Amino acid sequence: MSEVPFLELGQTYLEIKDELDAAYQRVMNSGWYILGEEVAAFEREFAAYCGTKHCVGVGNGLEALQLILRAYGIGSGDEVIVPANTYIATWLAVSNSGATVVPVEPEERTFNLDPRRIETAITSRTRAVLPVHLYGQAAEMDAIKDVARKNGLKVIEDAAQAHGARYGNRRVGSLGDAAGWSFYPTKNLGAYGDAGAVTTDDDELAQRVRLLRNYGSRSKYYNEERGINSRLDELQAALLRVRLKHLDEWNSRRVRIAETYLNELEGARLLLPLVAEGAAPVWHLFVVRSKMRDELQRQLNGLGVNTLVHYPVPPHLQEAYKDLGTPPGSFPLTEAIHSEVLSLPIGPHLSESDQARVVQAVKTFTT
Ligand SMILES: *Cc1c(COP(=O)(O)O)cnc(C)c1O
Repeated sequence: MSEVPFLELGQTYLEIKDELDAAYQRVMNSGWYILGEEVAAFEREFAAYCGTKHCVGVGNGLEALQLILRAYGIGSGDEVIVPANTYIATWLAVSNSGATVVPVEPEERTFNLDPRRIETAITSRTRAVLPVHLYGQAAEMDAIKDVARKNGLKVIEDAAQAHGARYGNRRVGSLGDAAGWSFYPTKNLGAYGDAGAVTTDDDELAQRVRLLRNYGSRSKYYNEERGINSRLDELQAALLRVRLKHLDEWNSRRVRIAETYLNELEGARLLLPLVAEGAAPVWHLFVVRSKMRDELQRQLNGLGVNTLVHYPVPPHLQEAYKDLGTPPGSFPLTEAIHSEVLSLPIGPHLSESDQARVVQAVKTFTT
């Protein structure tokens, strides 16, 4: 029997091949490949989609976050509050900017930063809170913003997993002072290579990120600041413009799949993800929890169902952060999550019959 793939990326090309091919031809024929009309148009369209004044296209998600921090003047000597459980890029953005990460434990059922734990992590050096909309669900932004406002902190969203997700009547990326986006190919809005963006209503921040992404230069060969090279390519921007038109439809397929999992797996021997009040997730990942995660994964694998673990090792236990002095046991909720989570197949091209096989396979897991 064929396998159930975790995510069929090639299908995203096949479904809209004609539109993508036309965009490719348009850019190739234009003779203009860096910072041109496609990037400008994508920036307008994505800002409109998110409901922000500005969007600035950059090279990838990590640099989007780094550019925001740098543009706000956050660096050496400063502290930034980050979720203890996130993809390591969130932490690396802070560390690479020279600032110190201050990890805070999650709310267990949503996997997102717990606003009730932020206050005690704040010191005189804290400059910002960097919530992640993990797995496609918005963090509890109202409560996070309340704490931030009371303490004079910036709120920077890591929106890399939540393109199109809503919180109340707004989309993520428009909820904090600024947001960093990744368009890595597996994200809900994915490019065909590396790409990223910053969205914000802050005129000054947008202007600075625009300078910094392009050598600190406003006009060619005149450099106001020591910037970097983190530009969104014309080609990726043109392909992203096509993908953006299909984002809502493809997200709604993910929502249908998630609803089926939530209904069909009720009563199965696992902890299902919880949708928080006011949040409308876009299900970048569908993550369940089991104390027997490894056995479950082995059994599903034996039945031809491919799953992944997001993520097997939390940032504070990575070799890269051993100087932090946070041994096992430092963040127990996060460590439990990392040892128990399993991501089931989900994506705009998961067929009904393949999903039925996943459901069946999970239900047979009894030991
Ligand atoms: C993918 C991702 C990033 C980084 O994006 P890149 O484009 O790969 O640099 C940052 N944060 C989170 C939560 C992500 O999932």
